[in-house]
Amino acid sequence: MVRNIGISVASPRKTCNDTQCVFHGSLPVRGKSFSGLVISLKSNKMAVVAREYPHPVPKYKRLERSRSKVHAYLPSCITAKEGQQVRIAECRPLSKTVSFTVIEASETNGG
Ligand SMILES: [Zn+2]
Repeated sequence: MVRNIGISVASPRKTCNDTQCVFHGSLPVRGKSFSGLVISLKSNKMAVVAREYPHPVPKYKRLERSRSKVHAYLPSCITAKEGQQVRIAECRPLSKTVSFTVIEASETNGG
């Protein structure tokens, strides 16, 4: 059965028996959550998500666009494509670089 993860997102239509899945396994999410763009799906069960944010430059009193990459775990019940907008949430560290997990992939994707 699908667990209530504490964040109001559409639960995935597919089911999986992944122990590290937030919906069907036993992985709790807590902390930060944000939306980003999938830029790479080359690794197994892992998505590289880019987050864009304005970064202030005091010398010019302007904001510059800054981008940071976050590695997020992609459970098998969520399908995401490169270029798609996804929502990720912080969880416990799953590996050296992964401490976020994909919780929702938007239906309307950019290709
Ligand atoms: Zn799942």
